[in-house]
Amino acid sequence: MPDKVIIAGAGQAAAQAVITLRHGGFTGGILLVGEEPYLPYQRPPLSKKYLAGEMELERLHLRPESFYVDHGVQLHLGTRVEAIDRSRRTVRVDGADLGYDRLVLATGSHVRRLAIPGHDVPQLHYLRTIDDVRGIQPQLRAGQRLVVIGGGYVGLEVAAVAVQAGLAVTVVEIADRLMARAVAPLLSQFYLKAHQAAGVAFRLQTGVTGIRRAAGHVEVQCTAGAALAADLVVVGVGILPTTALAAAAGLEVDNGIVVDELCRTSDPHIYAAGDCTSHPNALLGRRLRLESVHNAQEQGKTAALAILGQPEPYAQIPWFWSDQYDLKLQMTGIAEDYTTMVVRGDPDKRAFAACYFTGEQLIAVHAVNSPREFMLSKKLIAQGARLDPALVADTAIPFKDIAASASPG
Ligand SMILES: Cc1cc2nc3c(=O)[nH]c(=O)nc-3n(C[C@H](O)[C@H](O)[C@H](O)COP(=O)(O)OP(=O)(O)OC[C@H]3O[C@@H](n4cnc5c(N)ncnc54)[C@H](O)[C@@H]3O)c2cc1C
Repeated sequence: MPDKVIIAGAGQAAAQAVITLRHGGFTGGILLVGEEPYLPYQRPPLSKKYLAGEMELERLHLRPESFYVDHGVQLHLGTRVEAIDRSRRTVRVDGADLGYDRLVLATGSHVRRLAIPGHDVPQLHYLRTIDDVRGIQPQLRAGQRLVVIGGGYVGLEVAAVAVQAGLAVTVVEIADRLMARAVAPLLSQFYLKAHQAAGVAFRLQTGVTGIRRAAGHVEVQCTAGAALAADLVVVGVGILPTTALAAAAGLEVDNGIVVDELCRTSDPHIYAAGDCTSHPNALLGRRLRLESVHNAQEQGKTAALAILGQPEPYAQIPWFWSDQYDLKLQMTGIAEDYTTMVVRGDPDKRAFAACYFTGEQLIAVHAVNSPREFMLSKKLIAQGARLDPALVADTAIPFKDIAASASPG
């Protein structure tokens, strides 16, 4: 077993790697180096309850400080791993070279930034970190005008929190529908209507060309329609994997740090886990990059088990969730290249599941306020189960009976 593990990045994947290493009996040194000045924390509440002011900072922490003390984990927070010297097996932190036997890169991702005139006005914010929320919250007051740029999950979650706090909210989206990268048009339409009913205004098929300073506010200039006056602008136009450290060290990078099913990079002493990786998934038969808590946790675990000498290849069906108003969207599988989509339940009753098939194979389910469908579907998708789509749409038959009748893949 190695003597010393250094983890670069102190987020979701890093915390899980630490937990698995110590639970797995690793007694060597663990050093966690995190750029942000916070204990490893969960990000999902940043655009949900924490943004709404309904959650304390301590509840964001994945483990209290005492966990790291009790488990002999050294924390270097508020500082970066600046470089890796692979031949000497050292990392540069605060000007010092620190030796490792195994290095885990858990550097996550960073927001895609707008490169338009006026992108640097103080009213414009991104949302990735606790500090970003702290920048947004003072303006999150009734009567303020918010323009959200980007109609993906993060933008829509912010819109939901803000409109409920009494702000006048407009979402500008360049595509012709919401969450277009991930969901079927039916869900885009459902969410558009839900947000409109709550009072959010939309500009679809509209780009942003610049932000202009005005007296006490800004004007968001769009490719269509009049400019939008705003006291606050929140941009959610996607993220990019944080791979510069790995690339500078000569590790293979291709839409993420390239790892194998054990989270090993192209250097046998270096692992990578979480948002920053491009990884193979045997269940899906392809390589992919994911942006989700589940993936970060599972890969953190996979990397740690490999370091412990108890390798367990990563093979997980992806899942993700999004909370907007009273709507809990739970998504599993990848809804790409499907041949049929059926709806189980009634969108008008705000409880339904969009079920995506390739032939008779269930490949993805997007469940709105339908946890049972979500839970059972995760298993069915992992099994490559075959089902009659017409049967799945029939709510007269309980979903567990339909699941029980599925043919194995
Ligand atoms: C607002 C928001 C809402 C979200 N909602 C959901 C949701 O509902 N469901 C879901 O499944 N997922 C959600 N996600 C995504 C989820 O939070 C991420 O997929 C997850 O945090 C990824 O974990 P990670 O450990 O790979 O990276 P991160 O949690 O991003 O952690 C990486 C850390 O590494 C640090 N770092 C980077 N480079 C260095 C370096 N050189 N040295 C030291 N430190 C470094 C970064 O500063 C960061 O703190 C959300 C994300 C955001 C931002």
